[in-house]
Amino acid sequence: MNQKKKIIIIFFGPPGSGKGTQAAMLGEYLKLPAISLGELFRRESLRKGKLAKTLKEIMSRGKLVPQEIVEDVMDKRLREKDARAGFILDGYPRKKIQLEKLSERLRKILKPDDHALAILVDVSDREVKKRLSKRRVCACGAAYHLEFKPPRQRGNCDFCGGRLITREDDKPEVIADRLKLYHKENKPLIKYWEKQGRLIRIRGEQAIGSVKKDIIAALKKELK
Ligand code: AMP
Repeated sequence: MNQKKKIIIIFFGPPGSGKGTQAAMLGEYLKLPAISLGELFRRESLRKGKLAKTLKEIMSRGKLVPQEIVEDVMDKRLREKDARAGFILDGYPRKKIQLEKLSERLRKILKPDDHALAILVDVSDREVKKRLSKRRVCACGAAYHLEFKPPRQRGNCDFCGGRLITREDDKPEVIADRLKLYHKENKPLIKYWEKQGRLIRIRGEQAIGSVKKDIIAALKKELK
């Protein structure tokens, strides 16, 4: 792939679609940072102080974090050196105002030959519910699935040995709310990329490796 041009990739997909895992793998492949807003917030929420408390409270209910906080965190992250050649976004934009903010940013940083593409990892609501109930995470950011990606040692993280937990927002009642929110907020954003002919649709209900392969094959065509 031609990597002299700047590449910006935005991942879409319901919670539990595996877009976080795919964004991270694609980041390694393209040598670009994969930036997960949810992950930045989770890390921030483990600190002390008012912001951490607010984040913890909002996230445990599956609600969206207020816009001023979102843009502040994004600004800081995108100003880091590793994002200069491009970046991969997971979980942003999630609403119209965020799409507008992102478009503003892209207008400033992209030249006509650079690439900005969206990838939708398509997974049905039924599959999401099945998957999230078996997801376990570690405070270090690693995520597991009891069936498809189990940790080597039951209950502990492969990387840091930390105790694995069920995210507050992966509890069944919260999952239903998150799905509702996803459909309401994300559909117009996905349509926006589709209309521009810059949306790549990937079948997410396959093994992790097959999804990755499909993504790379589709990107190779687009990034010639
Ligand atoms: P995720 O890991 O992407 O499922 O995100 C976890 C939580 O972080 C969400 O339920 C929201 O509370 C918050 N969050 C993540 N991305 C955004 C965003 N773009 N706008 C507002 N809140 C967000």
